[in-house]
Amino acid sequence: YARAPHPSYGDAKIPAWEMIKFSVTIMRGCFGGCTFCSITEHEGRIIQSRSEGSILREIERIRDKTPGFTGVISDVGGPTANMYRMACKDPKVEALCRRPSCVFPDICPNLNTSHDDLIRLYRKVREVQGVKKVMVASGVRYDLAVESPAYIKELVTHHVGGYLKIAPEHTERGPLDKMMKPGIGAYNRFKQMFDAAAKQAGKKYYLIPYFIAAHPGTTDEDMMNLALWLKTNRYRADQVQTFLPSPMATATAMYHTGVNPLRGVRHGGSDKVEAIKGLRQRRLHKAFLRYHDPDNWPLLREALKQMGRADLIGPRPDQLVPAHQPPGTGKAAGTRRPVRPAGRTQRFTTKGLPMK
Ligand code: SF4
Repeated sequence: YARAPHPSYGDAKIPAWEMIKFSVTIMRGCFGGCTFCSITEHEGRIIQSRSEGSILREIERIRDKTPGFTGVISDVGGPTANMYRMACKDPKVEALCRRPSCVFPDICPNLNTSHDDLIRLYRKVREVQGVKKVMVASGVRYDLAVESPAYIKELVTHHVGGYLKIAPEHTERGPLDKMMKPGIGAYNRFKQMFDAAAKQAGKKYYLIPYFIAAHPGTTDEDMMNLALWLKTNRYRADQVQTFLPSPMATATAMYHTGVNPLRGVRHGGSDKVEAIKGLRQRRLHKAFLRYHDPDNWPLLREALKQMGRADLIGPRPDQLVPAHQPPGTGKAAGTRRPVRPAGRTQRFTTKGLPMK
């Protein structure tokens, strides 16, 4: 493996290569089972972890052979940052188990959630000669991380560079159940532990939460409540992600059939799921995520009135959109070219930081 783009690209700048050239994959697979994602289908639910020796040798190769290496490893991760060496406690049970997720609706008592191997690996990677900084840029599964305060401390003290992206994806139970994601309570617990660890380390770090608009099973009220949560917590999303049905994902089956396969599919007795397909509703769900953008205010005001929530229009901090429209804004929302749903590459930029 050459760790270089194919020579046929010549001197072309390849953004994907720029992103991964100093990063190391330590495992593959995911037992999360999030319905909008098909990594579990692509890579398997049983985690395949590389040996420490193999990872350390690759880092030495990066150091010695990759042009432009300055001592910073940009990611030590995989589909999820913190599932390294995690597995079912009993291989026989694991072989027979048909649960689509080991962590939803709760962490399975059979799952070994120890982060000790990962912490030891981080320490060894930091000790490689010539390595000055090791980042963790893969998504941290925060409901697992809260099981290990030592991991959060290690992560925050050594491997975060200002921001840490995590993906609660929503705040409301309805869509979260369709996504097979934990409740926002797990996010809150993680945030508390993250903030405490950052304070202890004397660092000013921020969590950047990601959310999805228009996931199957999301109502306008769900999006409104998410927008209120964002405003209360002083988050402003810059780019946002609108659900896109992608091959092999369970949520894609929901989107196309209007049925929830997680609840069993029976003739005449299946659990129905509303798919968000209409352009106006998709725009509206996205607009709720960007409640602070004046271009979205006319659409949001109209929707809030229809929902009987005109009380959320006004200047107070607990209201979502102002009644006034700044000159030169607000026309684009109805006339823009169609919204192209984004892939998994969204989302908050530095403008997504807590306001102030
Ligand atoms: S028994 Fe639990 S930990 Fe084991 S494979 Fe099944 S869901 Fe995962």
